[in-house]
Amino acid sequence: MIERIGVVGAGQMGHGIAHVAALAGCEVRMADVSEDRLRAALEKIGHNLDRQLRRGVIDEYTKAKTVDQIKITTNFADFGDCDLVIEAATEKEAVKRDIFKSLIPHLRDDALLATNTSSISITRLAAATDRPSRFMGMHFMNPVPVMLLVELIRGIATDDATFEEVRELSLRMGKHPVAAEDFPAFIVNRILLPMVNEAVYTLYEGVGSVDSIDMAMKLGANHPMGPLELADFIGLDVCLSVMQVLYEGLADSKYRPCPLLVKYVEAGWLGRKTNRGFYDYNGPDPIPTR
Ligand code: NAD
Repeated sequence: MIERIGVVGAGQMGHGIAHVAALAGCEVRMADVSEDRLRAALEKIGHNLDRQLRRGVIDEYTKAKTVDQIKITTNFADFGDCDLVIEAATEKEAVKRDIFKSLIPHLRDDALLATNTSSISITRLAAATDRPSRFMGMHFMNPVPVMLLVELIRGIATDDATFEEVRELSLRMGKHPVAAEDFPAFIVNRILLPMVNEAVYTLYEGVGSVDSIDMAMKLGANHPMGPLELADFIGLDVCLSVMQVLYEGLADSKYRPCPLLVKYVEAGWLGRKTNRGFYDYNGPDPIPTR
């Protein structure tokens, strides 16, 4: 049974993964490039646990115990007793490969490795390690403490025991694991991002305004958020990069990124994170930009 977990990368996803792993009772070591980032991550975990406390999801004792379970480090030597290490660092293949190279000499031979990558081939990353059979994808959704899904992706060499151990851990973390094959963007992004891209085409071709497209999908398809609002939430740069991965990885013109999406990204209008995307977020209420 997986009891000690290492998390590499303490960004948006890494601190969320550390949070749910610690809440599930695991001992967690969380690493990043600097103490500052790690302290900022601990602070965010504290805020998110407070929110769960206010909502009655956890009590004071659980909060204190969860915080206590997470140790921060900038040194992979502290990962020597981990049963599983989950890599959740920057989405760049070279960064991930370098991490595995420096991490592996410190790991136990039987330790499992997982990556939270959204778009890089699990099989290719596994091949860059000394343990492709004990390597797999564990793709959490953002924000991790809130979203119930985790996609579990086997590389070509992943063995059944690894998959089962990680599946059992996912359940202990309170997640619903879904198995996906190692194809570009897995399941959720393969379906969701082409819908977002199509919404941008609908805007580009003048079929509807930002307001009418979002309202139509909220009221007509019962979506909690319109596709353009969702694009701003995800980040237009992230939407574009997933479409590029699908377009290149599957070599099918149906995944062609909408030129209007490209233009917004070129303008630096990336959505909520830059206060402007399909909506302008500078005022009290979001205002459509088209
Ligand atoms: P982020 O930029 O918020 O965090 C990445 C962290 O990795 C940063 O804190 C950075 O300092 C750290 N890092 C970089 N190089 C490192 C190294 N050598 N050693 C240790 N830490 C290092 O990114 P994120 O949004 O948390 O994404 C992380 C991973 O999760 C990516 O692979 C991404 O594709 C995937 N993912 C993201 C989302 C999302 O919605 N943001 C959803 C699912 C999966």
